[in-house]
Amino acid sequence: MNTPLWEARADLVVVGTGVAGLTAALRARELGLRVLVVTKAAGEDGNTRWAQGGVAVVLPGEHDEGDTVDAHVRDTLVAGAGLCDEAAVEAIIAGGPAAVARLRERGAVFDAAPTGGLARTREGGHSAFRVVHAGGDATGAEVERALLAAASDGRVPVLENHVAVDAVRTPLGQVCGLLVLDGNGVPGVLGAPAVLLASGGLGQLYQATSNPEVATGDGLALALRAGAVAADVEFVQFHPTVLYTGRGARGRCPLVTEAVRGEGAVLVDATGARVMRGVHPLADLAPRDVVAAAITRHMAGGPGGVDDHVFLDATGISDFARRFPTVHAACLAAGVDPAGEPIPVTPAAHFACGGVVSDVDGRTGVTGLYAAGEVARTGLHGANRLASNSLLEGLVVGTRAAEAVAADLALGVLARPSAAVVAELPTAPVADRDSLQRVMSRYAAIGRDAEGLAVVGSVLDLSTVDRRLDSRELVEDAALTVAARALIAAAAEREETRGCHVRTDFTERDDVRWQRSQVVRLNPSGQPVLADPVVARGVA
Ligand SMILES: Cc1cc2nc3c(=O)[nH]c(=O)nc-3n(C[C@H](O)[C@H](O)[C@H](O)COP(=O)(O)OP(=O)(O)OC[C@H]3O[C@@H](n4cnc5c(N)ncnc54)[C@H](O)[C@@H]3O)c2cc1C
Repeated sequence: MNTPLWEARADLVVVGTGVAGLTAALRARELGLRVLVVTKAAGEDGNTRWAQGGVAVVLPGEHDEGDTVDAHVRDTLVAGAGLCDEAAVEAIIAGGPAAVARLRERGAVFDAAPTGGLARTREGGHSAFRVVHAGGDATGAEVERALLAAASDGRVPVLENHVAVDAVRTPLGQVCGLLVLDGNGVPGVLGAPAVLLASGGLGQLYQATSNPEVATGDGLALALRAGAVAADVEFVQFHPTVLYTGRGARGRCPLVTEAVRGEGAVLVDATGARVMRGVHPLADLAPRDVVAAAITRHMAGGPGGVDDHVFLDATGISDFARRFPTVHAACLAAGVDPAGEPIPVTPAAHFACGGVVSDVDGRTGVTGLYAAGEVARTGLHGANRLASNSLLEGLVVGTRAAEAVAADLALGVLARPSAAVVAELPTAPVADRDSLQRVMSRYAAIGRDAEGLAVVGSVLDLSTVDRRLDSRELVEDAALTVAARALIAAAAEREETRGCHVRTDFTERDDVRWQRSQVVRLNPSGQPVLADPVVARGVA
């Protein structure tokens, strides 16, 4: 089973059928590239289809009075808590209007305002109503539907149930293809001078998450094994409000979009007291990290805390079922009627702010390897993502990455697939998934300290064995293991509280020591280690 048994060729292989992958594949096709897309599940499986709130964008002629692209940039920088790359933020936000226009040309239908133009809502951290949405609270489903439909004309072949295992590289380390397991676990090689990782996030590091089962950090692990570096991995955003369905909820929990608070709902505790009163000037619409941390503190001991959840009072929203059909259905399924009673909610792992270091054109430090979407760390999100900036990032960077591949191919700087060395299934450390999720949730979620992070390390040491990655499950477990180790290494080193990284033993933000990103790479024995701080400053 070691030797690849099948082979195919393309100019570009894209891993992932979410917003970033499909946008890139469609653009690559327009540019005349032969493109192949692989996904380890069904086409629609991924974070994209679950996105609710919308896409943050300041559209020409359709915005609040005084709202501008610059204001959107400023809000993004504030949310990012000092760690955004300003040039990347400006480039991506400025690309938003064209990216949304292209998406609409491809068939995505956004909700219209009664007065004409697109309806806009507001989410935490935004100073204006600039989040456009579809199907009320089903924006991601519409984006995914439109992109899959556009790709289904046969010109963008999608291989479902094919799991990307490792990059195939030349003796010089350039990427020249992808090692893949097909639906029967048979290894094969997709030879290509360019591989784009659009493999999404890593919410499955934790027991409770808004992310579906596929979000296991595979692209991060693959990129590290290929010699790329990652940054900002300690910053995992916890969404303040997933539906609380009982003690010890596991796996994907239904999200209660922030737009519900944008339309007037407020967080209260069991006594009806407001959770966010006096915490932040924007109160219930404070940035996510602030709201999630405030709820966690409240649950831990504030007056009226119920130890594992609080409530979102949306009873004042008169047309809740029409405006938020997805949330409404999830609430009813859990026996809660949002029109008549507060919705029980709790924070859960939601979004990877960091990832594979790449520029706004998707280029990583490894020739032939590109990254876009949630797997990438472009510098847009810094220490905390501004709500609804990630679909936008996938649209903009997905497009730019395809254009970068076309340009690099034309320049002749990429390796030819024929130069590939023989690809073999790799062996990597694999921890027990249950143990990993349990200790990550207990010690590396919101509120971390040195002692707890060390416990995570010890548990991983005890439960990890080297395995050959010959099944989807092992590829995922190996990825979760690398991601957890990278996260705890960076989180232990960062002795401050900033953005989504909350240290209970270092509760203040420390700009003197820590206004910089940390870079992670794999050492020769395959362990994630922090790179030299001098390199790290170059990234920040
Ligand atoms: C519940 C929820 C609500 C959200 N709401 C919003 C919102 O309102 N606005 C917003 O901007 N963002 C929102 N987000 C975040 C946003 O949805 C994601 O960041 C974005 O969709 C990620 O897109 P992507 O293309 O990078 O990855 P995904 O859409 O996650 O796609 C990843 C793809 O990679 C594939 N894959 C992964 N590993 C492998 C492998 N080894 N081999 C082959 N294929 C692989 C998966 O199968 C999948 O096809 C939300 C996220 C969630 C979970």
